[in-house]
Amino acid sequence: MRSRRGNAGKIARPVRPDPVTPEELAVAAPDVFIAPNGVHLLQIPAWDDLPWLWHGFSTRKGGVSRAYCADGTPGELDLGFTDADDRDLVAANRRLLAESVTGDPTTQLITVRQFHSNLVVFPRGTNVQRKRSPKASGVASDIFATHVCKGDGLITAQPGLLLAIQTADCIPVLVADRKQRVVAAFHAGWRGTVQRIVESGVGRMRLEFGSKPGDLIAAIGPGIGACCYAIGEEVLSAFESQFIYGRELIREVYDTDQVRTKYPMLFLTQRAPGHSSIGPNLHLDLIEANRRQLLDAGVPPRAIHAVGGCTSCRPDLFFSHRASRGHAGRMMSVIGIRPR
Ligand SMILES: [Zn+2]
Repeated sequence: MRSRRGNAGKIARPVRPDPVTPEELAVAAPDVFIAPNGVHLLQIPAWDDLPWLWHGFSTRKGGVSRAYCADGTPGELDLGFTDADDRDLVAANRRLLAESVTGDPTTQLITVRQFHSNLVVFPRGTNVQRKRSPKASGVASDIFATHVCKGDGLITAQPGLLLAIQTADCIPVLVADRKQRVVAAFHAGWRGTVQRIVESGVGRMRLEFGSKPGDLIAAIGPGIGACCYAIGEEVLSAFESQFIYGRELIREVYDTDQVRTKYPMLFLTQRAPGHSSIGPNLHLDLIEANRRQLLDAGVPPRAIHAVGGCTSCRPDLFFSHRASRGHAGRMMSVIGIRPR
């Protein structure tokens, strides 16, 4: 239902989203696993039943870089070659992440230059161009070898690679085909979600590898939750125009500030929702948006897991572009096929 009628003869008006508070939209806290090398990871316990599958979602904990933490605190696991961070330390972090997931710090990480598209690439390891860093020797060359092509999704059936998506609020989605042994990783910010990166990515798994949706399992990683993801009218319009369920993904969020609750007249505004500095704000649920895409692609509901955690609510655990006003490291979500 996109509209409703009031009394007979009146003009139909769009349904307003249900008003809620940020607390009501809070995302469940994740369970954190600490690897023997100290990396703090999120994983899907049910996926332990698949010994051929590697996977993990990094947090900011358990690394060696210092670009985004206070003096005197432990180093952090920034996995993005950001301008603020030291390249060698990020490379060391990438080896730590690989080791925490596969047991081998030299496992090749395959990344892409993400640009909020629905473009999917099919790395096969041997086709990945090797680029040696002058500073890096031995194992580090493999870490630097990646990142050669643009895209926001990676799919492979080749064992021994770790497909990696980098995020700091956007939603990472990992998918595996239990029968065919195909794995995929997708990057879904609001732009990629509007372009159906996950829905079309699963379609590419079917097309290129013969994956049956009923054999797929999916994990939605940590990203910005509906509790924190305030959006503007342009994002609302994009979702409403692209998805029949677009409105269901967006909520009107009211501040729970005691003063505002007690003296609402002080905060009256004539401005449209999303354009006022004093609320209500429009909040988007990107996690649910991507769950809907997995469902529409045929992935069974019971096969879709969300690890939980809102990146913006938990700056102690996650890097968040919004929470840190753009000065953030990057986390990685990785998936791969263990070689026999
Ligand atoms: Zn939040």
